[in-house]
Amino acid sequence: MRVPSALTIAGSDSGGGAGIQADLKTFAAHGVHGLSAIAALTAQHTRGVTAVEIPPPDFLQAQIDACFDDFRITAVKLGMLGTGTVIDTVADALATRDVPVVVDPVMVATSGARLLAEEALVAMRTRLLPRADLLTPNLPEAELLLGHPIGSLDGMRAACNDLLALGAHAILLKGGHLADGADTVIDLLADARGIVELPHPRLRIEAHGTGCTLASSVAARLALGHPLREACEVAGDYVHRALAGGYRPGRGDVRVLDHF
Ligand code: PLP
Repeated sequence: MRVPSALTIAGSDSGGGAGIQADLKTFAAHGVHGLSAIAALTAQHTRGVTAVEIPPPDFLQAQIDACFDDFRITAVKLGMLGTGTVIDTVADALATRDVPVVVDPVMVATSGARLLAEEALVAMRTRLLPRADLLTPNLPEAELLLGHPIGSLDGMRAACNDLLALGAHAILLKGGHLADGADTVIDLLADARGIVELPHPRLRIEAHGTGCTLASSVAARLALGHPLREACEVAGDYVHRALAGGYRPGRGDVRVLDHF
């Protein structure tokens, strides 16, 4: 029996809270076999990122090829890619693969550390967005991709349409950063058929790796064959539960998600 596999192409977080480590825990929690191709290495703990290293493009390519040569990959998740060269390598590797791709456009960590070189924004716009079956930006990431601020729900709707126009097939725009003090967070799911609101109660808890976990959770559900909207709803519930159980594993104040 060849069980469905999901592949994450992303950055490693030595602290185990975000990136590849969060993705693999999430895949396991959804009952999907997890594969990984490490696009960037970070040295980090609960107080920040202390070093970043990008492996050679040939080695990234070899990891991706090894995964596709052997496993039944039914969804791919992209996270921290670091540079324009890495984005080009990944976009080339996926160009001929018929598999849904969830793109988490990782740019800056909550701690403020840059996880994507400034020069790579153009490559993200022109090479990754058109390959995204689903793009999962938070508001700061959508603002950087579009080059203007988004300050309201109407602004979020317009941003979804602008991101669709850049080539992404669907957008899950996360509303958590909207400074409206409301007890409900509204995420928007947009595709060619329209925009639906996905509301959920606001948990006044912040945790490292939330964006990675949401995107890999959607990818896991797609890997199991679920339709996009259902995958996004189930993923939202999963992140909510994982946040509610968040814990502090290190000496810093940062919480990580509970995948147990
Ligand atoms: N480190 C890696 C490798 C990541 O992929 C990410 C986010 O995607 C982060 C750190 C930042 O996580 P957060 O912004 O949740 O702290």
